[in-house]
Amino acid sequence: MNVQARGANHPGNMVMLPFSNLRRLREERPLMFVKGKGIYTFDEHGRDYIEAVSTFYCVNLGFSDEELIEAAVEQLRALPMYPSGIHRTVPVVMELAERLAEKAPVRGGHVMFATTGSEANDQLLKFTWYANRVAGEPQRRKIISRRASYHGGTIATTALAGSPALQEAFGIPTGDSLFVSHPTWPIGADPGETEEAYTDRLVEELRQTIEAAGPETVAAFIAEPVSVSSGMFPPPVGYFQKVKALLDRYGIRLFADEVVTGFGRTGRLWGSETLGIEPDCISCAKGLSSAYQPISAVVMSDDFYSYLEEGSNSAGIFNHGGTYGGHPVSAAVALKVLDIFERRNILGHVQSIMPIWQKALASLEDHPLVTATRCFGLAGAVQIARPGEGGPVAASPSLAPGGLSEQLYQEGLAAGVVVRPLQGCVVLAPPLIITEAEIGELSRRLRVAL
Ligand code: PLP
Repeated sequence: MNVQARGANHPGNMVMLPFSNLRRLREERPLMFVKGKGIYTFDEHGRDYIEAVSTFYCVNLGFSDEELIEAAVEQLRALPMYPSGIHRTVPVVMELAERLAEKAPVRGGHVMFATTGSEANDQLLKFTWYANRVAGEPQRRKIISRRASYHGGTIATTALAGSPALQEAFGIPTGDSLFVSHPTWPIGADPGETEEAYTDRLVEELRQTIEAAGPETVAAFIAEPVSVSSGMFPPPVGYFQKVKALLDRYGIRLFADEVVTGFGRTGRLWGSETLGIEPDCISCAKGLSSAYQPISAVVMSDDFYSYLEEGSNSAGIFNHGGTYGGHPVSAAVALKVLDIFERRNILGHVQSIMPIWQKALASLEDHPLVTATRCFGLAGAVQIARPGEGGPVAASPSLAPGGLSEQLYQEGLAAGVVVRPLQGCVVLAPPLIITEAEIGELSRRLRVAL
């Protein structure tokens, strides 16, 4: 059957689409994408779209990369599946773990694979509670997250979402979660407040939150080094260094959620490297395989891992895992991604294209709807408001943003560019392979949409 014709006669709500209005799907056929090449995707009518957010911040090496396809096919032919567990695994999984541990800015390095970013963060929580029990501190369960953050869609990770809209509708228990402000410098600063004073205020809020909860009950602080989906506010000066110093004082672990920032988005392999963060554990997914196959991982420090090892030895077994964690085909693709980063000097390309990207976004500021632009690495945000509607609002991720940003998203589709609407802004994170000419075309389409 012709791939274009597939699904043509099904009602839109045949498949329940996440983050969609399910009622609208009754009448409305969803956009159907059938092909991709480089930074472009093509819908069933042959229209092309620049994937300015790499779909879900994940197809970092662009679409239809032959080397990645070949890596998958080769592994499919050799051994399409073998689960990792019960003292068995496959060489590509072992090799990938070794490469990740070697590259991650975590002291030591032990890796556990899963399939999605949510699952990686979820197992990080589960492992933390396990480790703290082994350490004789079972009461250390609380996890601090930042408002406006997103760490996944499982029950435990939804409990960390800094957006009540994600929790309340499902009645998600959030008893073990603590929330602090997400930095939104300079929008969130008080009048006349310096950047340093703003940082200190956030760190003081964190200290008070820990003290109020009882420091002996707090296990970890989880944060993205820089969060695209929270409106792309680079952390203010000294933020992570001061946060880390405070956490160390209380014996609270720092987890870097690098599901989006991992694998080049910020100009280095890890956002933690770019921002000088030394986390105890890192979670990653998406860019790890350039999203060609589902795979995620947590990279844990020697210290953290030692408790898991000790607990498992006492119990005779570590009771956690899943069928697809570290799928061999996904691992083979991820290994190829790491090869490509080195051979094609992807980080060198990102660093050289970053100033062009920054300039292109800044050039939109002369548009009457654009109130500000923000940039970090190869990502950015365009803050929008109608003239006379007042200044920018502090961004918080809203999955149903409505208003002007939703309108800009729709106009973007019409102009052939896919952006991600949030409250008061749209965010961008194009494939890392984007060229100068393609950045020009992306900003031209964005201007048409505006
Ligand atoms: N963490 C962050 C920062 C994310 O942006 C996401 C998804 O967008 C996740 C975790 C969850 O990843 P996944 O959708 O693969 O479960």
